[in-house]
Amino acid sequence: MVVVLKKNPDPKQLRHLTSWIESMGIKIHMSEGSMQTVMGLVGDTTRIDTDLIEALDIVEAVKRIQEPYKDANRKFHAENTVIKVGEAAFGSGECPIIAGPCSVESEEQLMSIARSVKAAGAKLLRGGAFKPRTSPYAFQGLAGDGIRLLSLAKKETGLPIVSEIMDISKIDMFEDVDIIQIGARNMQNFELLKEIGKAKQPILLKRGLANTLQELLMSAEYIMASGNKNVILCERGIRTFETATRNTLDLSAIPMLKSMTHLPVIVDPSHASGIAALVKPMSMAAAACGADGLIIEVHNDPKHALCDGPQSITPEEFSDVAENVRRMNEIGYRG
Ligand code: PEP
Ligand code: MN
Repeated sequence: MVVVLKKNPDPKQLRHLTSWIESMGIKIHMSEGSMQTVMGLVGDTTRIDTDLIEALDIVEAVKRIQEPYKDANRKFHAENTVIKVGEAAFGSGECPIIAGPCSVESEEQLMSIARSVKAAGAKLLRGGAFKPRTSPYAFQGLAGDGIRLLSLAKKETGLPIVSEIMDISKIDMFEDVDIIQIGARNMQNFELLKEIGKAKQPILLKRGLANTLQELLMSAEYIMASGNKNVILCERGIRTFETATRNTLDLSAIPMLKSMTHLPVIVDPSHASGIAALVKPMSMAAAACGADGLIIEVHNDPKHALCDGPQSITPEEFSDVAENVRRMNEIGYRG
């Protein structure tokens, strides 16, 4: 971090600033020029609030040289973090698939989908029990009953389960959930992130609708700073000016994130496109770009799905997608 001082800074204020910085274990290199004095801060500056320093009378400008995320930063952790859940290993070079309905609707629906995605090679079962819907009048999910049905499907098929939490007060219901999802809309719900960082399960953190990759990593940092280092990042499409698709899949986010962080990066082609016919090409493209996994919405009767039917593929289509992803992953980019 570099702090540029104003001309002729008040010596007392300068002493104050330097001793405060040094008290945090940071070394200061002073460069005094005829026009300006520049302080180079060396050490772990992640906990320094740049706005606070910038507001001081003697300070002209503050610039971070290093990224503000530390736990998630590949610079401090060169090896990929591999997160193993059941038969899946995210970050290992494989491309395991999480598949299942957008929402758990009934026992019959979930069991039928769980059996068929397992047969097609899915490694985990997804299903929303608490749904973040735009309209308060839309189906909100089966809540506790949805989690109970997921547990039942897990027992029968052996597939680990993935489900979204929206409110930390429900955490006790997630005891049997193997990966806890934080949805796009909650990516910057900082209180939720701090609390979920205390959970023992890996966290699937989805990128917000209009968030940068650095903001996504700062949210992962919140979870990691609370103690949970097992965070799987998910690119699920971002808002752009395009309206033909529900969102725009940011494929460049995959290799970019993987250069910035050691955490696994998976892709959700269903919410990214919003169109069932695009799920196969987007899944293959994600595998080709080095995705560490996929999360795909599958429904046994998409036309009558209570949520996200237009982007849900059938079990037969899923089987074809899974086979093509396997083939694509064999030749995919590794970075
Ligand atoms: C979901 O996975 O069902 C979901 C709501 O996703 P997102 O948070 O990415 O919109
Ligand atoms: Mn959905």
